[in-house]
Parts: sequence; C-alpha cells; structure tokens
Amino acid sequence: MRTVYVAEYPAIQHRHRNGDIVTVRLKRRAGGYSASCSGCDTEFVYRKPGASRIQHHKSPLLPPVKGNFDTGDDEH
Ligand SMILES: [Zn+2]
Repeated sequence: MRTVYVAEYPAIQHRHRNGDIVTVRLKRRAGGYSASCSGCDTEFVYRKPGASRIQHHKSPLLPPVKGNFDTGDDEH
C-alpha cells in the first residue's frame, strides 16, 4: 500500500486507473487523520497546510502574537 499526503479534509477525491472518481473520508487515528482505499491500495494521510502561513495571512499588519486572534476577547 502506498501513502499519499493530502491537504483536503474531510473527504479525498481521487481517480482510479479505470477512470472512476472515488471519494474516501478521513478518519481520526493516532497521530492525525487518514483514510485508506482498498480499490487502489492507497493510504491518504492528512497533513495540515503550514500553520504559520494561516496566522500571517489573517493579520499582515500585526506581529504574530499568540492569542491575538480568534479568541473573541475583543468583542465586549
Ligand atoms: Zn482509490
């Protein structure tokens, strides 16, 4: 079985050799999410997109201070 790393969640669409488009759903396992497809003998392992990229994108003008975003603390 081969392993493919994906950034999609929660379902992985892929194509089989015969042209079928097959969807498999990721399941939580120890260490992360993964899904296996017996049709093409492939294991799909979910890998988060780069964590730092997300925070910088949200607030390009502020330093990346942890706890600055998404806490809801500012909405009094
Ligand atoms: Zn497959």
